[in-house]
Amino acid sequence: MASKINPRFAEELKQYGSVNFNACYNCGNCTAVCSLSTPEQSFPREMVRLSALGLEDELKQSLKPWECYYCGECTTQCPQTANPGELMMSLRRWLTAQYDWTGLSGLLYRSLSFTIAALLLVAAGVLLFARSTGFDAERLIHVGHLFEMLAIGTVFLVIFVPNLLRMWYFTIVKQKVRVPLKSYFSALPELFVNMFTQKRAKDCDEDDNFRWLEHMVLVFAYLSLLFTTVFLNWFGSEHLFVILLGYLESLLVFVITIHFVSGRIKRNKSLNKFSQPSDWLFVIWLLLMGLSAFLVRLFIDLQLLENNIWMHILHLTVLAQWALIIVPFGKWTHFLYRSFAHYFVKIKTMQEA
Ligand code: SF4
Ligand code: SF4
Repeated sequence: MASKINPRFAEELKQYGSVNFNACYNCGNCTAVCSLSTPEQSFPREMVRLSALGLEDELKQSLKPWECYYCGECTTQCPQTANPGELMMSLRRWLTAQYDWTGLSGLLYRSLSFTIAALLLVAAGVLLFARSTGFDAERLIHVGHLFEMLAIGTVFLVIFVPNLLRMWYFTIVKQKVRVPLKSYFSALPELFVNMFTQKRAKDCDEDDNFRWLEHMVLVFAYLSLLFTTVFLNWFGSEHLFVILLGYLESLLVFVITIHFVSGRIKRNKSLNKFSQPSDWLFVIWLLLMGLSAFLVRLFIDLQLLENNIWMHILHLTVLAQWALIIVPFGKWTHFLYRSFAHYFVKIKTMQEA
């Protein structure tokens, strides 16, 4: 069957941040410098060509954008300023919108006003709820804890499971990849190793292992803070170990994200040159999560929270916006889809073996 061409694809991709990829004249410099290129695989030129031709279905079925960790080498070497590294980033945003069955992901990427309206709506919901409790500190902490547990379960079952199934359908089923069921189990280490270590990022930018290390510490700090607040009930706990652990984790999240924000302000790397609202939203809300969680626990320990309930309302607002907008539909999902992309790539290699 002939591939479907979308003549408006370049216009559409611009809304996801792509800059000038149509200027490509196919010289091949980017492929020559990309560490992911092999004699069989042309990174990132193939993606540039498919995008220029508007071959949406091929792009939707490709896992290649997820293999790129944006070292920026291709962009530096491009004589046409076609910015292939940023194209790969934009394709990741576009793919996220394709996997999302609700359509909200695409709306958030394309419309800043929709994003602001969604954030304000969630903030209004939290304020109304806090008012309905009479701004009772104990009740707010209890409900905040229940909300975290409920949000994790709901987002996982209602958003992530269907979206990952759609990703699997586009990239495995539609590509007619046939592997025995046991390959899905034997490839599982690829999923978890990539999820927790992002080891490919280290290969992608061999000169800058600090970025990889920093990213890995952030993933561990964020996930363990989630575990400490949800399962060890950090705000309600009286165990010294749990209390100190939460302080350490929230501080790490805060300090590392401050560094990420400053990198985006300074635009000191290719990765930071063309920040989109979704990039800002992700780092700023992560920073606010770490900071506000740290302060709430500090206010509890100094017995200040009762008279400063606004602090907890602020944390609840950031938490609700994070859990209901950024995690299910925003840039957080890249962490999940990238890990599954490595898993699916591994499964595909098993077919070819
Ligand atoms: S280096 Fe630039 S002009 Fe050359 S193929 Fe890559 S994107 Fe196109
Ligand atoms: S940003 Fe780096 S890894 Fe990604 S396509 Fe360009 S050269 Fe390859």
